[in-house]
Amino acid sequence: MKTFDVPVYYRSPLISAIKKKRKTDDKLKKDFSPTLLDFGPLRIYLARHFGFCYGVENAIDIAFKTVEENRGKRIFLLSEMIHNPQVNKDLTSNGVQFLQDNSGKQLIPFEDLTKEDIVLIPAFGTTLAIEQKIRDLGIQLEKYDTTCPFVEKVWNRSEVIAKNNYTIIIHGKPKHEETRATFSHAAANAPSVVLTDMAEAKELAKYILGEKPATQFYEEFKGQYTEGFDVTKHLERIGVVNQTTMLASDTQAISEYLKEVMMQKFNLQEDTIKERFADTRDTLCYATNDNQSAVTGMLDVAADLAIVVGGYNSSNTSHLVELCEEKLPTYFINSEEKIISQTTIMPYDFHTGTEMITENYLPAKVPATVLITSGASCPDAVVEGIIKKLAGFYPASKSIDALMEQF
Ligand code: SF4
Repeated sequence: MKTFDVPVYYRSPLISAIKKKRKTDDKLKKDFSPTLLDFGPLRIYLARHFGFCYGVENAIDIAFKTVEENRGKRIFLLSEMIHNPQVNKDLTSNGVQFLQDNSGKQLIPFEDLTKEDIVLIPAFGTTLAIEQKIRDLGIQLEKYDTTCPFVEKVWNRSEVIAKNNYTIIIHGKPKHEETRATFSHAAANAPSVVLTDMAEAKELAKYILGEKPATQFYEEFKGQYTEGFDVTKHLERIGVVNQTTMLASDTQAISEYLKEVMMQKFNLQEDTIKERFADTRDTLCYATNDNQSAVTGMLDVAADLAIVVGGYNSSNTSHLVELCEEKLPTYFINSEEKIISQTTIMPYDFHTGTEMITENYLPAKVPATVLITSGASCPDAVVEGIIKKLAGFYPASKSIDALMEQF
């Protein structure tokens, strides 16, 4: 896989050494067991895969090079580069300005831009309408487009589905930048609907089966379907794609469920289902799959707690939290500063959208066993900071240097 030029302060010597060793020992990525860092009184299990993915490294590489090569020019980012507060802060402190916030709210009007300006498209991609708006201002995008190739793959997949006259069902978060971009690309080719979860898939199924009046659809799925969508016609042939960072089991369950609904409605069998349901495999990216499988492997270890590190608006990170929460107490933090002391932590609860002080998160017994993973937009340096902070609470711990010798 291509390598990228990422600022060294995002890297961690310890984690780079671990990842390199694991990769050498397991080239085909078949071993999803975690890596043990045995400090003595503290045992940390690091997931087999975590941290910066291809798309994030690509975006960071392009963004920092753009800053370096264009000193004195105005550089704008359409919205957050990736969902990581530190990376976005580093870019803004280099003079990069955001045009929109995460929800698409305009912070700087497009009209303020001139053709001398540079606009970076984030890793999630953007909508065709925004792309056109920027091109109309005479701004070149190609060189500064950091859209991840795995997101583009979803757009290509939906184009193929559309060409074969299927309506596109997108499993994703309707407000997420990537889903808005995918929706826009899909909408250019075929009628499309966004579904957030299985509950919405079940409601959509009622329209497919004629169990709900068609008129109700437009209110129920407001803002989630393409203009001119005709619920009486456009649910007769469907195909499912998804946001690249959804939970694999959810995406698979929704796709399987809708396939069965189509079989029931049109009296089809496995060999005839293609008439009504496009044969699509999920469009989750390799990093989402690897990181989720690595969490499943990590959860096989008996542990006291899990720490998941990443930006609070990061979709892929929140799914890692969901997986861990099913098994053990889980703390979602975005930096070592959220570990306030040996007894107090301030994690983020993504269900309620709030940070809460929590006491006694570490067990009183030794050794304490902690599982750690991070999202695809989280620098390894942040994870290393967390490891060091935790190890610092146990005075008899082995040093990081001593541990490094194993890798
Ligand atoms: S999570 Fe996947 S789709 Fe998103 S930027 Fe990373 S590699 Fe690309």
